[in-house]
Amino acid sequence: MKIGGFIRQSLIDYPGKIASVIFTQGCNFRCGYCHNPQLVLPELFESSLSYDPESILRYIKDHKDWLDGVVVTGGEPTIHNDLPEFLKEIKEQGFLIKLDTNGSNPFMLDNIVRKRLVDYIAMDIKMIPERDLYAEIIGIDNAHDMVENVLASVILLKNSPVDIEFRTTCIPGVHNDIMIDLIRNFIGSDKRYIINEFREGKTVNFYKRQLTDMG
Ligand code: SF4
Repeated sequence: MKIGGFIRQSLIDYPGKIASVIFTQGCNFRCGYCHNPQLVLPELFESSLSYDPESILRYIKDHKDWLDGVVVTGGEPTIHNDLPEFLKEIKEQGFLIKLDTNGSNPFMLDNIVRKRLVDYIAMDIKMIPERDLYAEIIGIDNAHDMVENVLASVILLKNSPVDIEFRTTCIPGVHNDIMIDLIRNFIGSDKRYIINEFREGKTVNFYKRQLTDMG
């Protein structure tokens, strides 16, 4: 596991729970609006801190009495092949686990859900299920296979026994009410659906422009 950030205690990242938050480093998407460029763009990795997974596991174990759960977020956690093993180690300490994902790895999600290594999954749905539009938002070349994976993850998670939340960051000029309704219909009315407003700031696009200007 490559870990690029750690919050010891959060009251807002796991609904209704006190949780530590682990930020994995690296992502297979390049969403322009992303507010975690230091976890996404390899050019920025060196200036960010990196954390030893063993120290983090030790910390949460030592603070068991003060925590209900652990949130594993990113970046994109499922790009790390050892994620299931890492989750298992956390689960063995008796914690609830929430996983945040962009849904690009349905195979790993299936494995994790089957083994009950998580209790809650929050998955981004960045656009309506239309391949070209979705590919445009995630900002990578040859994105169509990736979009297929995302759609497969939605189907998988809709029928999953763990708590599921889908969420969309609503970007002015990109998303409209019709799209949000289409997404809501796609995921089904029985699932939790959160709409986050886009905030200006030091996003992936901001840094990509800076890196381009620097040559
Ligand atoms: S918002 Fe996009 S680029 Fe940022 S971490 Fe999530 S999937 Fe990766």
